[in-house]
Amino acid sequence: MPATKTSIPVEAFLAESPLQLFIGGQWRPAEKKQTFEVIDPGAGTRLAHIYDSGAEDVDAAVQAARRAFRQSGWAAMRPNERGVYLHRLADLVEQNRDTLAEIEALDVGKPLAHARFDIENFSATMRYYTELALHIAYRDPIAVPRHEARTVRHPYGVCAFIFPWNFPFLLAGWGISPALAAGNTVVVKPAEDASLSTLYLARLVKEAGIPDGVINIVPGLGETAGAALARHPGINRMSFTGSPEVGRLIGESCGRNLVPVKLELGGKGAAVVFDDVDIDQTVDRLTRAVTLNTGQVCCTATRWLVHERIYDRFVETAIRRMQQVRIGYWDDPEAHMGPLISRKQMDRVLGYLEKGKQQGAAAVLEGGPAAVAGKEQGFWVKPAMLAGDPENIACREEIFGPVSFLLKFKEEQEALELVNRSPYGLANSVWSQDLARAGRVAEQLVAANSWINAHNVFVHGVPYAGVNLSGLGGGVLGPNTLLDYLREQSVVRPL
Ligand code: NAD
Repeated sequence: MPATKTSIPVEAFLAESPLQLFIGGQWRPAEKKQTFEVIDPGAGTRLAHIYDSGAEDVDAAVQAARRAFRQSGWAAMRPNERGVYLHRLADLVEQNRDTLAEIEALDVGKPLAHARFDIENFSATMRYYTELALHIAYRDPIAVPRHEARTVRHPYGVCAFIFPWNFPFLLAGWGISPALAAGNTVVVKPAEDASLSTLYLARLVKEAGIPDGVINIVPGLGETAGAALARHPGINRMSFTGSPEVGRLIGESCGRNLVPVKLELGGKGAAVVFDDVDIDQTVDRLTRAVTLNTGQVCCTATRWLVHERIYDRFVETAIRRMQQVRIGYWDDPEAHMGPLISRKQMDRVLGYLEKGKQQGAAAVLEGGPAAVAGKEQGFWVKPAMLAGDPENIACREEIFGPVSFLLKFKEEQEALELVNRSPYGLANSVWSQDLARAGRVAEQLVAANSWINAHNVFVHGVPYAGVNLSGLGGGVLGPNTLLDYLREQSVVRPL
């Protein structure tokens, strides 16, 4: 049970443990009746059990989604008819915002206000794609001589999704909204470390009257449920968000079945800070960025490249600011940073700090385990800063914790080379009052997203994707993402 007083709806939800799968509009236990635990990362205690989907359950979900695609009328509805259901779902998410936010905060460990943002973002994404679906051309004439020709756009069929634990509900919104608005049916495998909000969504799907089988949810472990979904021959599209290691496995499975795939993978984002910035403001924004969600953000600013002229003052300011970050349990209204998601993740972050130091990095701000009163069993760490050689392991690899690695540069070209030596290509930022320079540098950084005087910027309508080790397949959040969920057909008649 939760280590703090939760609201009555959340208590009632958790009391349904073991929580069930949602397949074809029905809740059901896993065929083999196995379960896994849900841990509160702030308290280190068990919150509930969830049924663990096996390959047979995943198969049932895919079959239900296939039936719904063919028979429920969903795929054939006009976009405005589907829009009625999807807006209703967005309404219900908003009406249940407090409950959902509490569930998310409890499950992931994030401050309640941050969880609330994630829940609202889900609805905003759903509404964005629902509206966009009204305005795209499903039949486009093609002007060619001596033929009458057109492009017709159809939904693919069953779209499968595997999500990570860092932003479970927000990312589910980014993923499934365009697929559903385009008329596909979906099967979702949430992360085993944070499945609760996605399971709560199932009841809102039912309440919204969305036809049975259009949205199916199969919680379970990655190597079993996730792998079974990715290799299922009955899916028509796959979308995976998570680590590059698992992304490769998903790509292999989809390659074998020739199923188109989107991969949104990890990153090692850099911030390039020129010498004309307001140091206090830049430090404040970068501190917020690297400690957001306790650093468990794929695109966050983990390598801080600071111009040598301001380096010492910048570092001094950053040490002070990072020490001020308020660490606390999700119900602490002043907290900016919660725990890490699991003991495994805590070992990973502390391990990188150790390995970084062993390879010669200086601990500019030591970091290490943190203590939160009354929550001794939680997975708490302090923000940390290392400095040293760009070849240091802590500078090259994704840590996924509140750790920044400081590098000094003198010339613009040197900064570009330092950023672009990373095999990742997700997101970087440039900080300067000289907007011509900032724009020039931003365009030369090899990554799918470059931000200017800000970090972690997401706007519906602006594509968010990764290149190289950070992903492939067109990304999310852009208008083209909706088109990605529609297959194209040309229809031609010689004249
Ligand atoms: P992960 O790759 O370990 O797990 C992600 C999901 O894949 C989980 O649902 C997990 O159960 C499943 N999975 C694990 N093994 C599997 C297998 N063999 N077959 C099929 N599915 C399997 O990643 P994580 O630790 O949950 O998340 C952290 C990673 O996600 C980081 O690398 C982070 O950068 C990345 N991420 C990327 C984005 C983005 O938009 N680019 C967003 C969030 C997180």
